[in-house]
Amino acid sequence: MSFVCRMCLKPVRDQEYHAACLRGLFGSAKVPQLDISLAKLHTAGLAMVGRSSLSGVQKKISVTLTTDRETLQVAADGGRYILKPQTETFPALPENEHVTTCLAKLVEIEVPPSGLVALSDGSLAFISKRFDRLPDGRKLRQEDFCQLAEQSPKDKYEGSAELCVRLLRKYASEPLIEILKLYRLLLFAWWTGNGDLHLKNLSLFTDTQGIMRLTPAYDLVSTRLVIPDDPLALPVLGKKSKLTRKTWVEFAEYCAIPKKTAQRVLEKQASVEEAANDAIESCFLPAEQKAALKELLTERGAALRD
Ligand SMILES: [Zn+2]
Repeated sequence: MSFVCRMCLKPVRDQEYHAACLRGLFGSAKVPQLDISLAKLHTAGLAMVGRSSLSGVQKKISVTLTTDRETLQVAADGGRYILKPQTETFPALPENEHVTTCLAKLVEIEVPPSGLVALSDGSLAFISKRFDRLPDGRKLRQEDFCQLAEQSPKDKYEGSAELCVRLLRKYASEPLIEILKLYRLLLFAWWTGNGDLHLKNLSLFTDTQGIMRLTPAYDLVSTRLVIPDDPLALPVLGKKSKLTRKTWVEFAEYCAIPKKTAQRVLEKQASVEEAANDAIESCFLPAEQKAALKELLTERGAALRD
């Protein structure tokens, strides 16, 4: 019997994951048991590591693997994974984050290993590996763009794409590299209708070599699937909606990205539409959300080619 892998969205025979995908996330080819139900998680206030800003409705729960790698447990601290269950407000957010994260890989945006896991009641939750921990459990130094801009967390929407570029110029060890990464990420967020890429969803960390760079991308969700016409969180050259190829070309100039490089990035983004449609077709979103996401990508792909 053929299934779709709950990590890479490619076909897999007789089971729900590829062994290699499981190893990449859990370090073992066995599916860990998750002995928690959604109802229990909704009351597990203590285990939360924070709320993502989809109006504060999505819980992030810290979980860890037992040493035999057979069970995932809620961890008060030191958890190596973040688990995001279904919410009561927006349908299919874990499935949404899963497919959006898979789409990011098509344009070579770095993301942490992640996938979907079933809770004991059968509902799917999104799980991703924390990237701010070293194998020995030590935490890497990390600051989000709200902190770098010296703004209060509640002002995470008070910013702009240009502010993010300036912060990278000031703090990143290799600004040119990081600004190009940021440009690709902002473009991708617009392409996928992600209105939740605010200042707290962008962070710099100091890696093991002491280099201060952007963390892998996280909290990638097509918010437009659940909040119609959701605009961008951070305006690009003053625009939160109705962006065009011209906007992105001009923003590349602001970023001091060479013209040819910017063109390549825009072409790459528009060129992955077919692969994206395949991933969306296989993903775990409800049919109407699949259709809406495909339509959005087609419309934005066309705007990029104009
Ligand atoms: Zn797989």
